[in-house]
Amino acid sequence: MSKKNQLEEVQNLIKKASKKAGLDDLTLARFIEADRVVEVSLPIEMDNGNVQTFTGYRVQDSNARGPYKGGLRFHPGVSLEELKTLALVMTIKSALLDIPFGGGKGGIVVNPKELSQGELEKLTRAFAVSLYDVIGPKIDVPAPDVNTTPQIMSWFLGEYSKIKGEHTPAVITGKAISDGGSEGRDEATGLGGVYALLEILKKLGKDPTGMTVAVQGFGNVGKSVASYLQKEGFKVVALSDSQGGIYIPEGMREMEAVAQCKEERGTLAGCYCIGSVCDIKNKEKLNGQDLKGDKILELPVDVMVPSALGGAITQRNVGDVKTRIVLEMANGPMTKDAEECLEKKDVVIVPDILANAGGVTVSYFEWFQNMHGEKWSKHEVFEKLKGKMEKATGEVFDLHKRHKVNMREAAYIVALKRLRES
Ligand code: GLU
Repeated sequence: MSKKNQLEEVQNLIKKASKKAGLDDLTLARFIEADRVVEVSLPIEMDNGNVQTFTGYRVQDSNARGPYKGGLRFHPGVSLEELKTLALVMTIKSALLDIPFGGGKGGIVVNPKELSQGELEKLTRAFAVSLYDVIGPKIDVPAPDVNTTPQIMSWFLGEYSKIKGEHTPAVITGKAISDGGSEGRDEATGLGGVYALLEILKKLGKDPTGMTVAVQGFGNVGKSVASYLQKEGFKVVALSDSQGGIYIPEGMREMEAVAQCKEERGTLAGCYCIGSVCDIKNKEKLNGQDLKGDKILELPVDVMVPSALGGAITQRNVGDVKTRIVLEMANGPMTKDAEECLEKKDVVIVPDILANAGGVTVSYFEWFQNMHGEKWSKHEVFEKLKGKMEKATGEVFDLHKRHKVNMREAAYIVALKRLRES
Protein backbone atom coordinates (compact mmCIF):
# COMPACT_ATOMS: atom_id res chain seq x y z
CA MET A 1 0.00 0.00 0.00
CA SER A 2 1.32 3.45 -0.88
CA LYS A 3 2.15 5.97 1.83
CA LYS A 4 -0.55 8.27 0.47
CA ASN A 5 -3.17 5.54 0.87
CA GLN A 6 -1.96 5.00 4.40
CA LEU A 7 -2.65 8.65 5.24
CA GLU A 8 -6.07 8.46 3.61
CA GLU A 9 -6.84 5.28 5.53
CA VAL A 10 -6.13 6.95 8.88
CA GLN A 11 -7.96 10.13 7.86
CA ASN A 12 -11.01 8.08 6.82
CA LEU A 13 -11.00 6.22 10.10
CA ILE A 14 -10.86 9.54 11.96
CA LYS A 15 -13.70 11.01 9.88
CA LYS A 16 -15.85 7.96 10.59
CA ALA A 17 -15.07 7.95 14.33
CA SER A 18 -15.48 11.73 14.62
CA LYS A 19 -19.18 11.46 13.79
CA LYS A 20 -19.66 9.07 16.71
CA ALA A 21 -17.53 11.31 18.94
CA GLY A 22 -19.69 14.33 18.05
CA LEU A 23 -16.84 16.39 16.57
CA ASP A 24 -17.72 19.44 14.50
CA ASP A 25 -16.11 20.00 11.10
CA LEU A 26 -13.89 22.87 12.22
CA THR A 27 -12.36 20.96 15.14
CA LEU A 28 -11.78 18.00 12.84
CA ALA A 29 -10.20 20.19 10.15
CA ARG A 30 -7.80 21.63 12.75
CA PHE A 31 -5.86 18.41 13.12
CA ILE A 32 -6.72 16.14 10.19
CA GLU A 33 -4.11 17.99 8.12
CA ALA A 34 -0.73 18.91 9.66
CA ASP A 35 -0.29 22.43 11.03
CA ARG A 36 3.21 22.68 9.64
CA VAL A 37 5.74 20.67 7.69
CA VAL A 38 9.45 21.46 7.95
CA GLU A 39 11.94 20.05 5.44
CA VAL A 40 15.66 20.56 5.98
CA SER A 41 18.77 19.59 4.10
CA LEU A 42 21.68 18.32 6.14
CA PRO A 43 25.13 18.33 4.50
CA ILE A 44 27.67 16.28 6.43
CA GLU A 45 31.35 15.69 5.92
CA MET A 46 31.74 11.93 5.92
CA ASP A 47 34.74 10.09 7.38
CA ASN A 48 36.28 9.74 3.89
CA GLY A 49 36.24 13.52 3.41
CA ASN A 50 33.31 13.55 0.94
CA VAL A 51 30.27 15.70 1.63
CA GLN A 52 26.91 13.93 1.63
CA THR A 53 23.59 15.75 1.95
CA PHE A 54 20.70 14.11 3.79
CA THR A 55 17.05 15.21 3.96
CA GLY A 56 15.25 15.63 7.27
CA TYR A 57 11.65 16.42 8.15
CA ARG A 58 9.52 17.45 11.10
CA VAL A 59 5.76 17.29 10.77
CA GLN A 60 3.75 19.18 13.40
CA ASP A 61 0.23 17.85 13.26
CA SER A 62 -1.64 19.51 16.13
CA ASN A 63 -0.91 21.34 19.38
CA ALA A 64 -4.52 21.68 20.46
CA ARG A 65 -3.86 19.75 23.70
CA GLY A 66 -0.22 20.74 24.32
CA PRO A 67 3.20 20.86 22.60
CA TYR A 68 3.65 18.77 19.45
CA LYS A 69 5.02 15.39 20.52
CA GLY A 70 6.44 12.42 18.67
CA GLY A 71 9.53 10.56 17.61
CA LEU A 72 12.31 11.04 15.09
CA ARG A 73 13.05 8.03 12.89
CA PHE A 74 16.24 7.43 10.93
CA HIS A 75 15.43 5.11 8.06
CA PRO A 76 16.01 5.00 4.29
CA GLY A 77 12.25 4.61 3.77
CA VAL A 78 11.30 7.83 5.60
CA SER A 79 8.88 9.93 3.54
CA LEU A 80 6.86 13.03 4.17
CA GLU A 81 3.63 11.22 3.45
CA GLU A 82 4.38 8.56 6.06
CA LEU A 83 5.46 11.14 8.65
CA LYS A 84 2.18 13.02 8.15
CA THR A 85 0.28 9.82 8.92
CA LEU A 86 2.41 9.07 11.98
CA ALA A 87 2.15 12.66 13.28
CA LEU A 88 -1.63 12.51 12.99
CA VAL A 89 -1.62 9.20 14.83
CA MET A 90 0.44 10.84 17.61
CA THR A 91 -2.23 13.51 18.08
CA ILE A 92 -4.76 10.75 18.60
CA LYS A 93 -2.44 8.66 20.79
CA SER A 94 -1.67 11.52 23.20
CA ALA A 95 -5.39 12.27 23.51
CA LEU A 96 -6.22 8.60 24.07
CA LEU A 97 -3.76 8.41 26.99
CA ASP A 98 -4.98 11.79 28.22
CA ILE A 99 -1.56 13.36 28.30
CA PRO A 100 -1.18 17.11 27.61
CA PHE A 101 0.53 16.85 24.24
CA GLY A 102 -0.38 17.15 20.59
CA GLY A 103 1.13 15.16 17.75
CA GLY A 104 4.26 15.38 15.64
CA LYS A 105 6.77 13.13 13.89
CA GLY A 106 10.06 13.59 12.13
CA GLY A 107 12.96 11.79 10.63
CA ILE A 108 15.92 11.64 8.32
CA VAL A 109 16.16 9.62 5.11
CA VAL A 110 19.21 7.57 6.05
CA ASN A 111 20.29 4.07 6.93
CA PRO A 112 22.08 4.74 10.24
CA LYS A 113 23.64 1.27 10.13
CA GLU A 114 25.78 2.48 7.21
CA LEU A 115 27.18 5.44 9.19
CA SER A 116 30.04 5.51 11.67
CA GLN A 117 29.27 6.75 15.19
CA GLY A 118 31.00 10.03 14.34
CA GLU A 119 28.92 10.55 11.19
CA LEU A 120 25.73 9.69 13.06
CA GLU A 121 26.55 12.23 15.76
CA LYS A 122 27.30 14.95 13.18
CA LEU A 123 24.04 14.24 11.36
CA THR A 124 22.01 14.34 14.59
CA ARG A 125 23.61 17.60 15.71
CA ALA A 126 23.00 19.16 12.28
CA PHE A 127 19.34 18.12 12.55
CA ALA A 128 19.05 19.80 15.98
CA VAL A 129 20.54 23.02 14.56
CA SER A 130 18.10 22.99 11.63
CA LEU A 131 15.05 22.35 13.82
CA TYR A 132 16.10 24.76 16.58
CA ASP A 133 13.60 27.49 15.64
CA VAL A 134 10.56 25.23 15.53
CA ILE A 135 11.06 23.08 18.66
CA GLY A 136 11.26 23.70 22.41
CA PRO A 137 9.91 22.31 25.72
CA LYS A 138 6.60 24.12 25.27
CA ILE A 139 6.53 24.03 21.46
CA ASP A 140 7.55 20.63 20.10
CA VAL A 141 9.26 17.81 21.98
CA PRO A 142 10.83 15.04 19.84
CA ALA A 143 11.66 11.52 21.06
CA PRO A 144 13.08 8.19 19.85
CA ASP A 145 11.41 6.17 17.11
CA VAL A 146 12.65 3.63 14.56
CA ASN A 147 16.49 3.34 14.74
CA THR A 148 16.96 6.25 17.13
CA THR A 149 18.46 5.70 20.57
CA PRO A 150 18.94 7.48 23.93
CA GLN A 151 22.45 8.42 22.72
CA ILE A 152 20.97 10.13 19.64
CA MET A 153 18.49 12.00 21.87
CA SER A 154 21.37 13.11 24.11
CA TRP A 155 23.39 14.46 21.14
CA PHE A 156 20.28 16.32 19.99
CA LEU A 157 19.79 17.79 23.47
CA GLY A 158 23.47 18.77 23.69
CA GLU A 159 23.30 20.73 20.46
CA TYR A 160 20.00 22.41 21.31
CA SER A 161 21.30 23.42 24.77
CA LYS A 162 24.51 24.78 23.26
CA ILE A 163 22.61 27.16 20.96
CA LYS A 164 20.15 28.11 23.68
CA GLY A 165 22.95 28.75 26.14
CA GLU A 166 21.37 26.65 28.87
CA HIS A 167 20.81 22.98 29.63
CA THR A 168 17.25 22.35 28.40
CA PRO A 169 16.47 18.68 29.08
CA ALA A 170 12.71 19.07 28.45
CA VAL A 171 13.28 19.78 24.73
CA ILE A 172 13.52 16.06 23.96
CA THR A 173 12.56 12.81 25.69
CA GLY A 174 14.06 9.33 25.63
CA LYS A 175 17.50 10.74 26.52
CA ALA A 176 20.19 8.86 28.40
CA ILE A 177 19.39 8.86 32.13
CA SER A 178 22.64 10.74 32.84
CA ASP A 179 21.36 13.59 30.63
CA GLY A 180 17.97 13.89 32.34
CA GLY A 181 16.23 10.88 30.83
CA SER A 182 13.60 9.04 32.85
CA GLU A 183 14.05 5.72 34.54
CA GLY A 184 12.05 3.16 32.60
CA ARG A 185 11.67 5.13 29.32
CA ASP A 186 13.62 2.51 27.39
CA GLU A 187 11.33 -0.32 28.47
CA ALA A 188 8.14 1.79 28.49
CA THR A 189 6.72 0.96 25.06
CA GLY A 190 7.15 -2.78 25.51
CA LEU A 191 5.88 -2.82 29.07
CA GLY A 192 2.93 -0.58 28.19
CA GLY A 193 1.90 -3.13 25.54
CA VAL A 194 2.05 -5.91 28.10
CA TYR A 195 -0.18 -3.94 30.51
CA ALA A 196 -2.70 -3.33 27.71
CA LEU A 197 -2.73 -6.99 26.69
CA LEU A 198 -3.11 -8.23 30.29
CA GLU A 199 -6.03 -5.86 30.84
CA ILE A 200 -7.79 -7.07 27.69
CA LEU A 201 -7.24 -10.72 28.57
CA LYS A 202 -8.69 -10.00 32.01
CA LYS A 203 -11.77 -8.42 30.41
CA LEU A 204 -12.10 -11.45 28.10
CA GLY A 205 -11.69 -13.82 31.05
CA LYS A 206 -8.61 -15.48 29.54
CA ASP A 207 -5.64 -16.72 31.55
CA PRO A 208 -2.32 -15.65 29.93
CA THR A 209 -0.26 -18.42 31.54
CA GLY A 210 1.39 -20.54 28.87
CA MET A 211 -0.05 -18.58 25.95
CA THR A 212 2.39 -18.82 23.04
CA VAL A 213 3.83 -15.64 21.54
CA ALA A 214 5.78 -14.69 18.42
CA VAL A 215 7.50 -11.30 18.27
CA GLN A 216 8.33 -9.87 14.85
CA GLY A 217 11.10 -7.26 15.18
CA PHE A 218 13.78 -7.31 17.86
CA GLY A 219 14.63 -3.64 18.24
CA ASN A 220 14.10 -1.75 21.47
CA VAL A 221 10.34 -2.41 21.50
CA GLY A 222 10.40 -6.06 20.41
CA LYS A 223 13.09 -6.90 22.92
CA SER A 224 11.31 -5.43 25.92
CA VAL A 225 7.87 -6.72 24.98
CA ALA A 226 9.29 -10.24 24.58
CA SER A 227 11.04 -10.25 27.92
CA TYR A 228 8.14 -8.71 29.88
CA LEU A 229 5.67 -11.15 28.30
CA GLN A 230 7.92 -14.00 29.33
CA LYS A 231 8.08 -12.63 32.90
CA GLU A 232 4.27 -12.55 32.95
CA GLY A 233 4.11 -16.27 32.17
CA PHE A 234 3.58 -16.19 28.38
CA LYS A 235 5.65 -18.66 26.36
CA VAL A 236 7.70 -16.74 23.78
CA VAL A 237 8.31 -19.28 21.00
CA ALA A 238 9.59 -17.12 18.15
CA LEU A 239 11.61 -13.99 17.51
CA SER A 240 12.70 -12.31 14.30
CA ASP A 241 14.40 -9.25 12.88
CA SER A 242 14.79 -7.88 9.36
CA GLN A 243 17.14 -10.74 8.41
CA GLY A 244 14.99 -13.67 9.53
CA GLY A 245 14.10 -15.42 12.75
CA ILE A 246 13.96 -18.41 14.98
CA TYR A 247 11.13 -20.69 16.14
CA ILE A 248 11.46 -22.86 19.24
CA PRO A 249 8.06 -24.46 20.00
CA GLU A 250 9.00 -25.41 23.57
CA GLY A 251 9.75 -21.75 24.36
CA MET A 252 12.69 -19.40 24.08
CA ARG A 253 15.40 -19.88 26.66
CA GLU A 254 17.87 -17.26 27.80
CA MET A 255 16.11 -14.20 26.44
CA GLU A 256 18.73 -11.93 28.02
CA ALA A 257 21.57 -13.80 26.31
CA VAL A 258 19.74 -13.53 22.97
CA ALA A 259 19.25 -9.79 23.46
CA GLN A 260 22.92 -9.37 24.31
CA CYS A 261 23.98 -11.41 21.29
CA LYS A 262 21.76 -9.29 19.01
CA GLU A 263 23.29 -6.18 20.57
CA GLU A 264 26.81 -7.38 19.81
CA ARG A 265 26.17 -8.71 16.30
CA GLY A 266 23.52 -6.24 15.21
CA THR A 267 21.36 -9.16 14.04
CA LEU A 268 19.60 -12.19 15.50
CA ALA A 269 21.04 -14.48 12.84
CA GLY A 270 23.58 -16.74 14.46
CA CYS A 271 22.40 -16.00 17.99
CA TYR A 272 20.96 -19.50 17.91
CA CYS A 273 23.96 -20.91 16.07
CA ILE A 274 24.32 -20.33 12.37
CA GLY A 275 21.92 -22.23 10.09
CA SER A 276 20.58 -24.40 12.88
CA VAL A 277 18.89 -23.95 16.20
CA CYS A 278 20.81 -24.66 19.34
CA ASP A 279 21.08 -23.47 22.90
CA ILE A 280 23.03 -20.24 23.00
CA LYS A 281 25.11 -21.13 26.05
CA ASN A 282 25.51 -24.90 25.94
CA LYS A 283 25.35 -25.26 22.14
CA GLU A 284 22.98 -28.18 22.75
CA LYS A 285 20.68 -28.84 19.76
CA LEU A 286 17.13 -27.59 20.24
CA ASN A 287 13.97 -28.72 18.57
CA GLY A 288 13.41 -25.62 16.51
CA GLN A 289 13.80 -24.06 13.10
CA ASP A 290 15.18 -20.98 11.36
CA LEU A 291 12.61 -18.71 9.79
CA LYS A 292 13.16 -16.97 6.47
CA GLY A 293 11.92 -13.42 5.83
CA ASP A 294 8.56 -12.79 7.47
CA LYS A 295 7.60 -16.44 7.96
CA ILE A 296 7.21 -15.67 11.67
CA LEU A 297 3.86 -14.07 10.89
CA GLU A 298 2.47 -17.43 9.81
CA LEU A 299 3.20 -19.37 13.02
CA PRO A 300 0.34 -20.99 14.93
CA VAL A 301 0.65 -18.92 18.12
CA ASP A 302 -1.86 -17.43 20.56
CA VAL A 303 -0.40 -13.92 20.36
CA MET A 304 1.36 -12.34 17.39
CA VAL A 305 3.31 -9.18 18.16
CA PRO A 306 4.38 -7.17 15.10
CA SER A 307 7.03 -4.79 16.48
CA ALA A 308 8.91 -3.73 13.37
CA LEU A 309 7.85 -1.37 10.60
CA GLY A 310 4.35 -0.65 9.31
CA GLY A 311 2.57 -2.79 6.71
CA ALA A 312 3.66 -6.23 8.01
CA ILE A 313 0.25 -7.91 7.63
CA THR A 314 -1.43 -7.17 4.32
CA GLN A 315 -3.85 -8.76 1.88
CA ARG A 316 -0.86 -10.68 0.52
CA ASN A 317 -0.05 -12.69 3.67
CA VAL A 318 -3.14 -12.36 5.89
CA GLY A 319 -4.51 -15.69 4.65
CA ASP A 320 -1.53 -17.42 6.28
CA VAL A 321 -1.84 -15.68 9.66
CA LYS A 322 -2.97 -18.23 12.28
CA THR A 323 -2.83 -16.30 15.53
CA ARG A 324 -5.82 -15.60 17.84
CA ILE A 325 -4.61 -12.21 19.13
CA VAL A 326 -2.52 -9.47 17.50
CA LEU A 327 -0.75 -6.99 19.77
CA GLU A 328 0.23 -4.13 17.46
CA MET A 329 3.47 -2.78 18.90
CA ALA A 330 4.60 -1.24 15.58
CA ASN A 331 2.80 1.76 14.17
CA GLY A 332 0.39 0.70 11.41
CA PRO A 333 1.49 -2.95 11.14
CA MET A 334 -1.75 -4.05 9.44
CA THR A 335 -3.68 -2.75 6.44
CA LYS A 336 -7.42 -2.21 6.63
CA ASP A 337 -8.30 -5.11 4.32
CA ALA A 338 -6.04 -7.42 6.36
CA GLU A 339 -7.77 -6.26 9.52
CA GLU A 340 -11.20 -7.04 8.04
CA CYS A 341 -10.01 -10.48 7.08
CA LEU A 342 -8.75 -11.23 10.61
CA GLU A 343 -11.90 -9.88 12.21
CA LYS A 344 -13.97 -12.34 10.20
CA LYS A 345 -11.96 -15.04 11.94
CA ASP A 346 -12.62 -13.39 15.34
CA VAL A 347 -8.99 -12.49 15.89
CA VAL A 348 -8.64 -9.99 18.75
CA ILE A 349 -6.64 -6.95 17.59
CA VAL A 350 -5.10 -4.65 20.19
CA PRO A 351 -4.63 -1.48 18.08
CA ASP A 352 -1.30 0.33 17.78
CA ILE A 353 -2.42 3.64 19.25
CA LEU A 354 -3.22 1.80 22.47
CA ALA A 355 -0.67 -1.03 22.43
CA ASN A 356 2.41 1.14 21.87
CA ALA A 357 1.31 4.22 23.79
CA GLY A 358 3.52 3.38 26.78
CA GLY A 359 6.43 5.13 25.05
CA VAL A 360 4.85 8.52 24.73
CA THR A 361 3.28 8.14 28.18
CA VAL A 362 6.68 7.76 29.85
CA SER A 363 7.98 10.52 27.56
CA TYR A 364 5.39 12.70 29.23
CA PHE A 365 6.60 11.56 32.66
CA GLU A 366 10.18 12.39 31.58
CA TRP A 367 9.18 15.84 30.32
CA PHE A 368 7.22 16.48 33.53
CA GLN A 369 10.21 15.51 35.70
CA ASN A 370 12.47 17.80 33.62
CA MET A 371 10.03 20.73 33.85
CA HIS A 372 9.71 20.33 37.62
CA GLY A 373 13.25 19.28 38.50
CA GLU A 374 12.02 15.91 39.82
CA LYS A 375 13.52 12.44 39.61
CA TRP A 376 11.18 9.46 39.91
CA SER A 377 12.22 5.87 40.64
CA LYS A 378 11.64 3.14 38.07
CA HIS A 379 9.04 1.64 40.35
CA GLU A 380 7.15 4.93 40.49
CA VAL A 381 7.32 5.33 36.69
CA PHE A 382 6.05 1.79 36.07
CA GLU A 383 3.22 2.16 38.61
CA LYS A 384 2.07 5.37 36.92
CA LEU A 385 2.43 3.78 33.48
CA LYS A 386 0.34 0.81 34.60
CA GLY A 387 -2.39 3.14 35.84
CA LYS A 388 -2.48 5.10 32.57
CA MET A 389 -2.45 1.99 30.35
CA GLU A 390 -5.13 0.17 32.33
CA LYS A 391 -7.39 3.21 32.32
CA ALA A 392 -7.07 3.80 28.57
CA THR A 393 -7.49 0.08 27.83
CA GLY A 394 -10.58 -0.10 30.00
CA GLU A 395 -12.11 2.90 28.22
CA VAL A 396 -11.37 1.41 24.81
CA PHE A 397 -12.72 -2.02 25.72
CA ASP A 398 -15.91 -0.68 27.27
CA LEU A 399 -16.66 1.60 24.33
CA HIS A 400 -15.93 -1.27 21.92
CA LYS A 401 -18.55 -3.36 23.71
CA ARG A 402 -21.06 -0.55 24.13
CA HIS A 403 -20.91 0.82 20.56
CA LYS A 404 -20.24 -2.57 18.92
CA VAL A 405 -17.20 -1.22 17.05
CA ASN A 406 -13.76 -2.78 16.87
CA MET A 407 -11.12 -1.71 19.40
CA ARG A 408 -9.30 0.46 16.86
CA GLU A 409 -12.40 2.52 16.15
CA ALA A 410 -13.20 2.59 19.87
CA ALA A 411 -9.72 3.97 20.63
CA TYR A 412 -10.18 6.71 18.03
CA ILE A 413 -13.61 7.61 19.46
CA VAL A 414 -12.22 7.87 23.02
CA ALA A 415 -9.39 10.11 21.75
CA LEU A 416 -11.62 12.24 19.54
CA LYS A 417 -14.01 12.91 22.40
CA ARG A 418 -11.04 14.36 24.29
CA LEU A 419 -9.99 16.43 21.30
CA ARG A 420 -13.55 17.74 21.07
CA GLU A 421 -13.23 19.10 24.60
CA SER A 422 -9.86 20.77 23.99
N1 GLU B 1 8.02 7.12 18.82
C1 GLU B 1 7.12 6.74 19.85
C2 GLU B 1 5.71 6.62 19.34
O1 GLU B 1 5.49 6.41 18.16
C3 GLU B 1 7.26 7.63 21.08
C4 GLU B 1 6.97 9.08 20.88
C5 GLU B 1 7.32 9.92 22.10
O2 GLU B 1 7.76 9.39 23.08
O3 GLU B 1 7.11 11.13 21.99
O4 GLU B 1 4.77 6.63 20.08
